[in-house]
Amino acid sequence: DEKKPDKWIFSTCGYCGVGCGLYIGVKDGKAVYTKGNPKHFVNQGTLCPKGLSEHQMINSPHRIATPMIRKDGELQSASWEEAFGKVSSEFKRIQKEHGNKAVAVIGTGQFLTEEFYTLGKFVQLGLRTNNYDGNTTLCMASAVMGYKQSLGSDGPVGSYEDFEKADTIFLIGANIADNHPILTLHINKNKREKKKVIVIDPRASKTSQMADVYIPVKPRTDLALFNGLAYIILEQGWENEGYIAANTTGIKELRKHLQNYPPQEVANITGIDVKTLYELAREFVSQERVLSAWTMGVNQSFMGTDTVSSIINLHLLTGHIGREGTGPFSITGQCNAMGTRETGFTSSLPGYRNFGDEKALKEYASIVNVPEEIIPRERGYKYAEIIDAIDRGEIKALWITATNPLVSFVNQKKLRKILAKLDLLVAQDAFLGDTAQIADVIFAAATWGEKEGVYTNSERRCNKANKAVEPYGESKSDFDIILEFSKYFEGVNEMFFPNWHEPRDAFEEWRKVSKGQLCDYSGITYELLEEHGGIQWPCNEQFPLGSKRLYTEDIPFRTVDKKAKLLSLEWHPMLEPVSPEFPVILNTGRTVEQWHTRTKTRSIEILDNLAPEAWVDVNPSDAKKLQVKSGDRMSLSSPRGRVDNVIVRVTGSVRQGTVFVPFHFNEQLVNTLTQDSFCPKSGEPNFKQTAIQLHSE
Ligand code: SF4
Repeated sequence: DEKKPDKWIFSTCGYCGVGCGLYIGVKDGKAVYTKGNPKHFVNQGTLCPKGLSEHQMINSPHRIATPMIRKDGELQSASWEEAFGKVSSEFKRIQKEHGNKAVAVIGTGQFLTEEFYTLGKFVQLGLRTNNYDGNTTLCMASAVMGYKQSLGSDGPVGSYEDFEKADTIFLIGANIADNHPILTLHINKNKREKKKVIVIDPRASKTSQMADVYIPVKPRTDLALFNGLAYIILEQGWENEGYIAANTTGIKELRKHLQNYPPQEVANITGIDVKTLYELAREFVSQERVLSAWTMGVNQSFMGTDTVSSIINLHLLTGHIGREGTGPFSITGQCNAMGTRETGFTSSLPGYRNFGDEKALKEYASIVNVPEEIIPRERGYKYAEIIDAIDRGEIKALWITATNPLVSFVNQKKLRKILAKLDLLVAQDAFLGDTAQIADVIFAAATWGEKEGVYTNSERRCNKANKAVEPYGESKSDFDIILEFSKYFEGVNEMFFPNWHEPRDAFEEWRKVSKGQLCDYSGITYELLEEHGGIQWPCNEQFPLGSKRLYTEDIPFRTVDKKAKLLSLEWHPMLEPVSPEFPVILNTGRTVEQWHTRTKTRSIEILDNLAPEAWVDVNPSDAKKLQVKSGDRMSLSSPRGRVDNVIVRVTGSVRQGTVFVPFHFNEQLVNTLTQDSFCPKSGEPNFKQTAIQLHSE
């Protein structure tokens, strides 16, 4: 009874893209409980360990209580006026001396949609720099670009309901048991006899245990596998000719291109025998409803965009799209990676309007009443290109919001050296993580539970997150920080945020901006969200309570000719092949107890006890050769650095010649080893295959 809440506040989980509905229990002004919302479609009252302990994150000892400025080498508390004054005067000096684009910003999928829209508007139209990207480029960018090049627009196609309705689900490079645990609810609920779950992954993760069929594909050969399945479908005449003729272009070229992917060749590349390839292709066409879901195993690749499109090809060839229980489905990483994509200013202008589309640009300018000439015509540097531009001395100031590159980005030693070249590094964060610790100025941000707005989950469901308690110390919501900071730039606040006082003001503008676009929020209101516990866009007069899926008869593809593109996509061998010096392939990923770089979860006792440090999974035959056993400690090295003191777990879940290490832990910083190679279309890093050496200690 001591901790019995005085009130329960309706909200949404702020960790992953599943988007679970919950209530925050508040007692004496403090968050003391989190419980699942039994009426929410997504989680039906359940929560994973992170969600259940989420209120504890608010009271973390690593919270930043006040703005800070580095003086005499030390970060010291400062007033908001001092922090805003210092950053604004430095931004102005740098932009005067080196041009507007010498200031860059890296955002986050952790912001609420209102905050992300406000930040994008301020950076692109107010600061006039298009060197602006989000940490979403480290996780979802390949899905974005794959959807764009195949279907004409970003936007996940289906619903969690489709997981329940599908006859066969292909889970590709997606360890949902650890990373999207509550999504399993919708797979397990699929009790119909025909149901089949096929997991395609080089690693037999926890998720493979729920599979009817597990396909242990060789690392980074997925694109060849999907080309091979497309070859068999066409060879056998199993394609859906009617669907292809009515809805797609490119079949002739694809048919020719796939001649390079005959089954035996694909079997040699992927390690999957020819018979199994035929069985998989057969599964794709013999069932009425087939869904393919993927996440980082596909996206985080130097061929990420094209691998996404190779999955979409299979759905277009078979007509498994735009119907109940079907579709290609990208599972989103962060709680609001979707909101960042929709409100734009990174990979597109707001509302999925393409950069370079003058008509769309004029439309946006007239809705928000700004001069057309200040809207960027092209995308600026992507995340990794921003880092390169800092290295070249072209970018002098970097403002990082709610993300921690000094754990999450590739090739850490190089990154640390590059960030040291900046004239000014600003970190806007709620927690004193590794990146904030080297900042020149910190804007102290409020976190989940202390602010209001919306998150949009993997299935396009917009959910409301509410303020349960006051922001910690002198911290402010990201929305308030951006608005107040904008007042330090003459005319900017009045011009771009006229009469904006609260997140609802930004949301109302966003509703107008998105009207008529694929991601149409015009029918969504805060009140409707609380009443229905989340609504899927597009939501408008035609779909007053949202839409379960895209590319149905009512929603055509977003290409100019309204036809989806069957694309001819090339598989390439790994960029950094193994060698006698570095003979092992390192795969990285996550575990259910920790969130990304642990800024939020490291001080939650239960989570920290369950997963206190990194480990390395080693195949039994490799362990025998190395003469190590579970519980021993090992070092790992690559051409870029070395990580010591990693505890060994001997397990058949990893293939011989490969190891797995979670990336969360700054003490065993596995991104010291990873390579800086990227998908040329999306800019997403190839986190998943690094050639390394193992050393027993
Ligand atoms: Fe939160 Fe994701 Fe866990 Fe749901 S599954 S409680 S959204 S972390």
